[in-house]
Amino acid sequence: MHAALHETLAKVDPEIAELIALEEKRQRDKIRLIASENYVSGAVLAATGSILTNKYSEGYAGKRYYEGQQYIDPIEQLCIDRAKAVFGAEHANVQPYSGSPANLAVYFAFLKPGDTVMGLGLPAGGHLTHGWNVSITGAYFKSVQYGVRKDTHRIDLDEVRELARKERPKLLWAGGTAVPRTIEFAAYAEIAKEVGAVFAADIAHISGLVAAGAHPSPVPVADVVSTTTHKTLRGPRGGMIMCKAEHQKAIDRAVFPGLQGGPHNHTTAGLAVALREAQTDQFKQYAHQIVANAKALAAALVEHGWSLITGGTDNHLILADVTPKGIAGKVAAKALDAAGMELNYNSIPFDPRKPFDPSGVRLGTPSVTSRGMREPEMKQIAAWMDAVVSAPTDTGLHERVAGEIRELCAKFPAPGILI
Ligand SMILES: *Cc1c(COP(=O)(O)O)cnc(C)c1O
Repeated sequence: MHAALHETLAKVDPEIAELIALEEKRQRDKIRLIASENYVSGAVLAATGSILTNKYSEGYAGKRYYEGQQYIDPIEQLCIDRAKAVFGAEHANVQPYSGSPANLAVYFAFLKPGDTVMGLGLPAGGHLTHGWNVSITGAYFKSVQYGVRKDTHRIDLDEVRELARKERPKLLWAGGTAVPRTIEFAAYAEIAKEVGAVFAADIAHISGLVAAGAHPSPVPVADVVSTTTHKTLRGPRGGMIMCKAEHQKAIDRAVFPGLQGGPHNHTTAGLAVALREAQTDQFKQYAHQIVANAKALAAALVEHGWSLITGGTDNHLILADVTPKGIAGKVAAKALDAAGMELNYNSIPFDPRKPFDPSGVRLGTPSVTSRGMREPEMKQIAAWMDAVVSAPTDTGLHERVAGEIRELCAKFPAPGILI
């Protein structure tokens, strides 16, 4: 945090100031490999931490329910225009509070309770909001879940087509949270068209890659594209829905007044800044380097004898089965965290273990790539990971690795971190 801001905060609330300072140091000193996380720029932080948080602006630009929108309207309009330009979308709604509310708005726009939704099952790498049973989307709608092939662990579009023909969903989701391979949006679009479903692509994880052309875009073929703004897109925490012009009214009405009250204007401004950054050549290089780094990290892990789901990656994300290393996912994740490498334990497709104690770990390269790390560092990270996972109780080793990682991190300053 900027020193002046820290001082202001510390005077009023030393406890929170201290905890934020410690978290900032943690983010500085660790190799952050959680696939859904990133470092936003100082510019995004500045906009997000601004006085825009003071303002109410229910409604949309030019049609608000509160006065004093002289500056909020152009901020939201800039954000919308940039989103449309970055993704080539006909319409963008930038008000969803996060990815899950964005998805819920998609349901509200097109479905009635009890209608059928089809999405990738959570155990196969799908997201809760695509109809998983504990989610409101599984409880209030009739949910049909597709999976991945047992032999390849890849999504089988023939199987998706067959299931869609049988179940006739009103809404078909593509996308997920633990999908290491390219998603074939055009094939989904064809299936949705055949069965008369709305096709929604959830690109929460990969929107930064899509923006930069490092992953094919669903925008030309999908009715609706939802995304978070804080993962590879490197904006503030939030959500966004893009759609064809014909769906603009339904989507806008579903977000407000359907689901939400006032938009978070400070977040909208932060997102506008991130979308401006996403238009630069630097960002394009960044997104392609995320993929290059993930491929390098995956290849290095395979060299160390790791078992990767689908054998590798096409995007920013790697899903590994660590049980062949004689360790469970949670034990591996905790040992790696102690050694300065932060990732999450994760179920693998057809996991014989329980979700709270699964076989796998999930990792990704958006954050380390934001620090400017490249292929040589990925090799080093894989070596550290393998050493730690091979000796999960060797606390001496963990401390030694954590020290080496602090030294490496000092050479790669993280965006937005000033200490
Ligand atoms: C992260 C994610 C979401 C939800 O985002 P939140 O901001 O955590 O609500 C939705 N869909 C997918 C595919 C995601 O990866």
